[in-house]
Amino acid sequence: MEFIFLCSRVNVLILLLTLCSPYKFIQSPMDFGPLNLLQTTYESSRDFGRIVFNTPAAVLRPQSKTDISLLLSSLSASSLSRVTVSARGAGHSIHGQAQAVDGIVVEMESLPLEMDIHNREGKNEISFMDVSSGALWIEVLKESLKFGLAPRSWTDYLHLTVGGTLSNAGISGQTFKFGPQISNVLQLEVVTGQGEFVTCSRSENSELFYSVLGGLGQFGIITKARIILQKAPEKVKWIRAFYNDFDTFTKDQELLVSMPDSVDYVEGFKVLNEQSLHSSSVGFPGNIGFLPDFGTKEKPKVYFCIEFAVHDYQLEHINVDEVVRDISRQMSCMQAQFYSVEVSYFDFLDRVSMEEISLRKKGLWDVHHPWLNMFVPKSGIVEFKELLMEYISPDDFMGLILIYPLLRDKWDGNMSAVLPEVGSTDRFMYVVGVLQSASPDTCNHHCLHNLLQHQRLFAQTACDRIGAKQYLGHQPSPFHWRQHFSQRWDRFARRKSQFDRNYILGPGQGIFTNPQFASS
Ligand code: FAD
Repeated sequence: MEFIFLCSRVNVLILLLTLCSPYKFIQSPMDFGPLNLLQTTYESSRDFGRIVFNTPAAVLRPQSKTDISLLLSSLSASSLSRVTVSARGAGHSIHGQAQAVDGIVVEMESLPLEMDIHNREGKNEISFMDVSSGALWIEVLKESLKFGLAPRSWTDYLHLTVGGTLSNAGISGQTFKFGPQISNVLQLEVVTGQGEFVTCSRSENSELFYSVLGGLGQFGIITKARIILQKAPEKVKWIRAFYNDFDTFTKDQELLVSMPDSVDYVEGFKVLNEQSLHSSSVGFPGNIGFLPDFGTKEKPKVYFCIEFAVHDYQLEHINVDEVVRDISRQMSCMQAQFYSVEVSYFDFLDRVSMEEISLRKKGLWDVHHPWLNMFVPKSGIVEFKELLMEYISPDDFMGLILIYPLLRDKWDGNMSAVLPEVGSTDRFMYVVGVLQSASPDTCNHHCLHNLLQHQRLFAQTACDRIGAKQYLGHQPSPFHWRQHFSQRWDRFARRKSQFDRNYILGPGQGIFTNPQFASS
């Protein structure tokens, strides 16, 4: 996009857009009143993936929800407008999901930060925080800890916005116990695609509430969320245990997630090579004395690590060390490969920032991230693991492969998030995150293209053969999105026509095109 905006008043801008031929999508001038649209920035056209770079025509840095409502109601009122709008949280998507080519990016972090805690501890009521959607989870954590409280469900990395993760699901090692972050929201304030300002919950405007949670930014822009809080522990016992056998690893993971009264967090990862053992240990403050034999290039040996945690609630009748000992007796990890450390709750939740610092130092943070996350039915997890070994080569894989179980009954089927369709008897499903990095120094455009093609093929095979579903994923066309949603497509499309009837929101996902302009 070569055109540079020099104006700040949007009606002047629209006049320019109307006159300038590249902006054919705007057919008539619109009056946005006192809104300030700004010229595009590098940030607004990139994300963590560093794969897709779409330049918007302008950026809105809203100072209030009214700014967002004004923008969307003005666009929605003009049936001829083709301008699209994307909310951008922290821009940690992989495939341009928060971008809007030739449209308007709304930078949610500029909304004034509001965090109101309602502490109901001891009153037999639920404590919660009302928080503006552009807040980062790390800010939510710091504020709630001042009151001895914290949200129940997290993501591994906390420099993500509340609105961004609630538009996907928000999962981590607590999901087995409390469900994803979208299951831990009491109420939302949303500006719909029509610019209407709506408060919604399970009992009030519930259709919008369910649509927006996991809704990939398609139905409205979340401006505020009411997040459930609980009493925060002070300390956490953080444990890592190693396995040389996949079946024992998953059996023990399933054992741990079946003990929600004692266990507070469960994840796991694949140990492919020295690099993966070392990089996954950066945040873990214990000394890992595991020196595995990785075999040869022809006959590689891989290992697995379970990571789990037990919170110290400082209750007199609970001795955390005893709880951990009890649990460990029931596990079948490799002899002597059980490591335990005690850390503060804050450091535990913020553990990925240690990895970020280390990767930044090595120049490996701002690189391509062709990440792939999939939900895999339990019935297909062994086949998935085998397919994965055909897809990656252990000796040169750069990154981390996360594998951990989730419980289906912690997810609300009314919400928009898509899960594998499996028999009702399958209690568990797995999330597998293939979090690969590719440095531009060693992987050029052609190499990245090949990597993504290969990944696409792998994901499609896993969907077709095993019934796996992508999480945080990108689909190559609206047709593929339909396949992704399968039975849920009609509901998703109906909700779109209800809450964003002019198809203004979320163009970066590539799910919908406005049928009015489909053939032109
Ligand atoms: P963005 O990338 O800015 O936006 C994501 C989508 O949400 C876009 O479609 C955007 O339009 C929409 N959106 C943003 N804000 C709003 C809003 N206020 N209202 C409506 N729509 C909105 N995810 C997990 O679940 N668990 C993890 O453990 C985890 N770890 C991660 C670690 C790292 C290092 C990274 C980079 C990502 C991780 N993620 C994880 C993925 C992350 O949850 C998603 O990429 C999420 O979208 C990032 O939030 P964001 O604020 O950057 O959103």
